[in-house]
Amino acid sequence: MKNISSVLLISALALNQSCTTMKKTDTQQEVPVTDPSLSSNPFMKKSKLQYEAPEFNKIKNEHFKPAFDFGLKQQDAEILKIANNPEAPTFENTIVALEKSGEVLKRAVIVFSNLTSANTNPTLQALDEEYAPIFAAHSDKMYLNENLYKRIKSIKEDGLDAEGKRLVQYYKQNFEIAGANLSAADKEKLKQINQELASLSTQYSNKLLEARKQGGVFFSDVKELDGLSADEIAAAAADAKTAGQPGKYLLALQNTTQQPLLQNMKNRASREKLFKASWQRAEKGDGSDTRETIEKLAALRLKKAQTLGKKSFADWKLQDQMAKTPEAAKKLMNQIASPAVETAKREAKDIQDLIDQQKGGFKVEPWDWNFYAEQVRKAKYDLDENQIKPYFEVTTVLEKGVFYAAEKFYGLTFKKRTDLPVYHPDVVTYEVFDHDGKSIAIYYLDFYTRDSKNGGAWMSNFVEQSYLLGTKPVIVNCYNYQKPAPGKPSLISYDDVSTMFHEFGHSIHGMFASQKYPSLSGTNVPRDFVEFPSQINEHWALDPVVLKNYAIHYETRQPIPQALVDKIKKAATFNQGYMTTELVSAAALDMDWHTVTNQSQLIPVLDFEKQSLKDHGFTLATVPPRYHTPYFAHIWGGGYSAGYYAYLWSETLDNDAWEWIKNNGGLTRENGDRFRKYILSVGNSVDLNQAFRDFTGHDPDIKPLLRNRGFIK
Ligand SMILES: [Zn+2]
Repeated sequence: MKNISSVLLISALALNQSCTTMKKTDTQQEVPVTDPSLSSNPFMKKSKLQYEAPEFNKIKNEHFKPAFDFGLKQQDAEILKIANNPEAPTFENTIVALEKSGEVLKRAVIVFSNLTSANTNPTLQALDEEYAPIFAAHSDKMYLNENLYKRIKSIKEDGLDAEGKRLVQYYKQNFEIAGANLSAADKEKLKQINQELASLSTQYSNKLLEARKQGGVFFSDVKELDGLSADEIAAAAADAKTAGQPGKYLLALQNTTQQPLLQNMKNRASREKLFKASWQRAEKGDGSDTRETIEKLAALRLKKAQTLGKKSFADWKLQDQMAKTPEAAKKLMNQIASPAVETAKREAKDIQDLIDQQKGGFKVEPWDWNFYAEQVRKAKYDLDENQIKPYFEVTTVLEKGVFYAAEKFYGLTFKKRTDLPVYHPDVVTYEVFDHDGKSIAIYYLDFYTRDSKNGGAWMSNFVEQSYLLGTKPVIVNCYNYQKPAPGKPSLISYDDVSTMFHEFGHSIHGMFASQKYPSLSGTNVPRDFVEFPSQINEHWALDPVVLKNYAIHYETRQPIPQALVDKIKKAATFNQGYMTTELVSAAALDMDWHTVTNQSQLIPVLDFEKQSLKDHGFTLATVPPRYHTPYFAHIWGGGYSAGYYAYLWSETLDNDAWEWIKNNGGLTRENGDRFRKYILSVGNSVDLNQAFRDFTGHDPDIKPLLRNRGFIK
C-alpha cells in the first residue's frame, strides 16, 4: 500500500495527496519568530543531512506543536498574500507561489504522519486528534478562498510547458472538487463537515490501534500452538513476557481478517480462537469498538458529497481517478467477482474433501481454510511453506532479490548507510545510485511489527522530488514482519517476500520521479494508478534469474533447488479463488458504504455488511472479506474510501503491462528504461490513461488478469 496517513494529513494542505513541499519565500518574514524556543526547533530549518533527510536525532515530541502552529500561520500569510496580490494573476505569482508555500508546516507534518503510522506514542496520538480538524480547516481556508479561486481560473495556459499546463488543470479541478464553486453558506457547512470528518477518522485509527493491541490472543499451554515452528513459539513467548504475562504465549493480530499463523496451527480450537479474535477485534462494545465512529463517518461523508452536489461520496471521490465514476469501478468488480467466487467454491470442495478423507467430521469454517489449503497445496503441488521459508532470510531477500532485480532492470545500485539518524533502532538505511552512478535517493526500511506501528505494509516519502524546490526523494518502506527471537535469523514467508517487492515498486516510483512541481511528482497519482508500479514489481520475486539469486538457504548457503522453484511457480495460481474473492468482496463493501444516496440506507455496521455481501453474491461463509467493516482501516482511517477497488484496477493495468514485458524479453535493461520512461518517471504530469497506452500500445484489457489468476485459459 501507498501510505495514506501521511497523504491524508498533507492533503489537508493541498487536497488530493499532493504535497506542498516548499521553499523559503520572502513572505516568511511576515510571521516573525517570536517564540525563542523555535530557534532550536529542527523543523524551522531545512535539514542539513543529505537530501534534507529528517534529523531524527534532534526531533522530539515537543517540537511538533510549535512547528505546526508556526507553520500554519506562515502558510496562512503566504496564501493571503497570493490571493490578495494587486498584480494580475499569473502562473508564477499564483500557482508556483502556492507550490512553494508552507515550508515549515510541510516539513513537520510529513515527519509527524510517518511517525504516527510507524512509531507512535500517546503524545503523538493526542496531537494527531488535536490537529486533524485544525489541518482540515487550514486546507479549507485555501480551497474555499474566493479570490484565490478566481485568480486560478483566470490563468492563461498559453506559453506554459506541458507540465505547467497540467498543473493549472490540476489546481482548477482540485478547487472545484473541494467546493470552490459553492455558495458562502454551503462553504461554511462544508468546513464544519471536513473538520468533523478529520476528527472522526483520527479517532477511528486510534481506536483500531488499541483494538489490535488488545486483541492478541494468550495461550497458556504450548500444546495449543502445535504446528508452529520453534522460532514462532519462542517469539510468542517473548511477546507474552513483554506484555506482562511471562510463561504464556501471545499471538498478536495482523491487520487482515485471516491470520498468517493459522495455516500451521493444528489445534482447531486454537485456530477458532485466533480467527474470532481477529474478526471481533473492534466490536466488543468497549473503548476500542469502532462501529459508532464508522456510522458517523459514513453519514457525514454522504452529507459532504451532497453538499458538493453529488449523489454519493463515491461519485464525488472518483472524479479525478482513472475510473472517474463508481459505475466504471463496479463494472470491473463484477467482471472479476463471479469467476472468483466460482473458483473459490471449487477450492472449498477440495478442502472439504480433504477434511472428510481425514475423518475430520466437521464442515470447513474460515479458520480452517488456510490450514487445509496449505495441505491441499502440499498434496497438489507438493509444496510446503516451511520447506521454502529457510530460503527467505530478510536481508538476503532485500539485497540479493529486490535490489538485484532493480539492478538488472533499471541499472540501480545500493549502498548501506549507517551514519544517518533513524526513528527506531530497527530501521535500516541505503543510498540509491542510478545506472550512471549518480546518487538519486535515500531509502529507509522498517521491517518489524510493534505495538506502536499500524498494521500492514506501506511506502511513504519523507522528502519528495521536485526540480522547483531542488529536492530529491527520501523514502521509507514499513512492514510488519515478525521480529525473530534474539540470535535467530529473520525468515519470512513467500507472501512477505512478495510484499517486499511490492513496496519497493512504490519506492521506485518515488525514486524515479522527475517533475518540476511537487504536486505532480512521483507517487502523487490517482489511487487507481498508484498500485500499478508496485504490482509490476511483485513479478520479479518469481523471475527465475532473480529468485535463484536471493533464495539462498540461511544455514547451508545453497541456492533454492530448481525443483522447488518449479513448484512455487506451479502453485502460483493456487488459492486464487479465495484470495480474489476476499479482495473483491472488500472492494464491493467499500463501494457500497460510499454509494449510499440516502441516510435511511445507512443501517448498523454489521447488518450493512451482511446485506452488501449478500447483494453481490459473496455468500460463501468460508470466504470472509479481507477486511471486516470494523477494522477496514483503508477506508475509515486512510484515504482509500471509495477507493479499495483501486487494487483491482491497478492490477488490471499490471497484468496487461506485465504481459507486454514478458512478450518483449522480460528482465532487460531496455524494458526497464522503457517502463521508467513512460510510467515511473512521469508522476502525474501526463494523462495516465495515455501513459499506459504509450507503454503497451493499447487500452487496458482485463483478460490477462483473469488468465493469470487461473480463471480463464
Ligand atoms: Zn501498495
